[in-house]
Amino acid sequence: MTLQSVLIVGGGIGGLSTAIALRQKGFEVTVIERYPDLHASVFGVGIIQPGNALRALDMIGCADACIEAGYPAKQWGRMLDAEGNHLRDMAGVTIEGTDLPPLNGVTRPKLHEILTNRALEVGADLHYDVEFVSLEEGPDSVTATAKDGRTFTADILVGADGVRSKVRKYVFDGAEMEPQYIGQSAFRMNMPLLPEIDCIVLQGDDQGMAGYVPIGPDLAYMFYNAHMGTHERIPQDQLAPRLREYLARFGGLTARVRDEFVTDDAEIVLRPEESMGTPRPWHKGRVVLMGDSVHAITPHLGQGAAQAIEDGVVLAEELAVMGDDLDAAFLAYTDRRYERCKLIVDTSLAIGEWEMGRKPGFDNVSATIHVLDVMARPL
Ligand SMILES: Cc1cc2nc3c(=O)[nH]c(=O)nc-3n(C[C@H](O)[C@H](O)[C@H](O)COP(=O)(O)OP(=O)(O)OC[C@H]3O[C@@H](n4cnc5c(N)ncnc54)[C@H](O)[C@@H]3O)c2cc1C
Repeated sequence: MTLQSVLIVGGGIGGLSTAIALRQKGFEVTVIERYPDLHASVFGVGIIQPGNALRALDMIGCADACIEAGYPAKQWGRMLDAEGNHLRDMAGVTIEGTDLPPLNGVTRPKLHEILTNRALEVGADLHYDVEFVSLEEGPDSVTATAKDGRTFTADILVGADGVRSKVRKYVFDGAEMEPQYIGQSAFRMNMPLLPEIDCIVLQGDDQGMAGYVPIGPDLAYMFYNAHMGTHERIPQDQLAPRLREYLARFGGLTARVRDEFVTDDAEIVLRPEESMGTPRPWHKGRVVLMGDSVHAITPHLGQGAAQAIEDGVVLAEELAVMGDDLDAAFLAYTDRRYERCKLIVDTSLAIGEWEMGRKPGFDNVSATIHVLDVMARPL
């Protein structure tokens, strides 16, 4: 049998990137997504795109559009103390042989639009409002069944269904492999671009970290990683006052943002930060996992989506080279991805621990620079 068709469960950043990469290699690709349209699963805030994310996006024909829609920055970041004094600059890394910037910021809806348009352009078949519930493997194919009873059959199935993946349960034989809440939740909101936000500006210390990311010519987004108990919930209509409380001790940029822009509860998104790394292998039979379904990454390095996009590019490369030997292709894919993703999962967790005061002496800037250096190496 010659491998021809691929069914992707999940039309998020990872699923769409994989769809494009596979179509570019000539596979027939169908994507099923549980939400009714391309924007329904996406918050309106921004996303950090490091140089390695842009390299992978370039390989699927989407980097230029992201840069055009976003804010390409000349350096990665700048670190300020809680009072607002400058501590250190982080140049970031550029990818050898490219003219990609070390960082781009863009809104999540725009990124989804770019990936979706490109997936359609290269001929992927996208189905919305289809919730995957189960799968069955046959000798030559795999069939997924949706909640409404529809079925989809292909030669292989890619689980790109995110941190609460149902496909993961199949690959790991039902073993409980769930993401862990790390003790921090992220407040995020968009705000006008201020002149000093020309790269990622981090302000804080081991009591908590605020951050600012340029995501367009006039737009930035701010985040604050708050130390919160597992069961603590903040109602939507109290998000602004609670965020202002967290930011009360800050001076400089964060004091200005707190007083001028943290005003509208409806504009603020609060999300728990979860982490999970899974053991190898990431496949069983004709089914393979990618993205958050196998490596849920906390946001401290802005690398979760970057890794999902890289997964898609590498998976498509390995399937194109040895598609008929599925086991070999899936193992080669995991071998190329495992240590890279593990470094991101572990370092992101360590930064979170330090931000919660549990890792005294940890150097978050050096850890970030090391990760960026490793990520700039060939995929
Ligand atoms: C607060 C926060 C900030 C972040 N900031 C950044 C950042 O700046 N840069 C960065 O690179 N990463 C960032 N990340 C991480 C990034 O968002 C994720 O790593 C990335 O979205 C993973 O992509 P994915 O496609 O694997 O999963 P998802 O984006 O979760 O997509 C999974 C898709 O599958 C669909 N789905 C799920 N179950 C089913 C089902 N049963 N049937 C059909 N469809 C299904 C979902 O609706 C969804 O569309 C951040 C994460 C958080 C929590």
